[in-house]
Amino acid sequence: MEILKTVSEMQAWSDNIHQKQNQICLVPTMGYFHEGHLSLMEKGKEFCPDLVVSLFVNPTQFGENEDLDSYPANIERDVKLAEKKGVSVVFMPDKKEIYPDGFQTYVELTKLPGHLCGLSRPVHFRGVATVVTKLFNIVKPDVAIFGSKDFQQLQIIRRMVKDLNYNIKIVGCPIVREDDGLAMSSRNAYLSPEQRQIALCLSKSLEKAEDMILNGEKITSTVKKELASYIKSFSFTEIDYISICDPETLDEIGDGDINTADPLLIAMAVYVGRTRLIDNRIINPVQ
Ligand code: AMP
Repeated sequence: MEILKTVSEMQAWSDNIHQKQNQICLVPTMGYFHEGHLSLMEKGKEFCPDLVVSLFVNPTQFGENEDLDSYPANIERDVKLAEKKGVSVVFMPDKKEIYPDGFQTYVELTKLPGHLCGLSRPVHFRGVATVVTKLFNIVKPDVAIFGSKDFQQLQIIRRMVKDLNYNIKIVGCPIVREDDGLAMSSRNAYLSPEQRQIALCLSKSLEKAEDMILNGEKITSTVKKELASYIKSFSFTEIDYISICDPETLDEIGDGDINTADPLLIAMAVYVGRTRLIDNRIINPVQ
């Protein structure tokens, strides 16, 4: 496995692979790997043997009061885990390599970021779209793998690839969970043992919402109220949002407008202590 740190080394490696008529798969990450990240690497290997994992904590997707400086890291462990998964290259640029002095070009979508996480994280998706565009131009993948844990991000990337005519297949992977249902996240490392237990209220309330809807509840505000009061019954919690929306457009579904034959996204962000956790569930996914 190679560790590459510069844009020119990475581009040269990719050009060489393409010259041999081979395809490249990219898994973008911010590191501190857990089983969720590893599942994306496994999926990537199903598409192409030449798998690149990028490990870059992207400063432009963090707001001013967010956790950029404290974001968990263990590069040595990540490198070992990537090697075990048969990764060909870990691309690990430093910040100046991606954002050199004078950098001023951003990629911004007009509608999808105006929902869910974008409402409380106004610069987040501009940062994500920009860094993923740059990674696409640097790594030149044929396939790129993303987790549906960050569902809005996945939809934004899919839209961006269409809008910008990238010839890249975007593959979404299911959420990997701990045995008790907590969605795996690098940020779970911030939780105290007590908060870790409380954090189960996200996955539990998503199950509750699915039960209510599949049992005929059509009023989205009733489902949201029920979830909110359940989550608020735990100490340390503060709800950022609870959404029941169309998985394509992310537009909220109004009271009475639930059609149980259509796919439906239930998504939420909840602070447990100072840690902001997200989770989601799709009802009736398109097969
Ligand atoms: P991150 O390092 O948090 O930026 O995540 C890198 C990639 O891993 C993104 O595509 C995430 O959606 C994906 N990911 C994070 N957590 C999970 C999880 N629990 N299950 C599946 N994919 C995940």
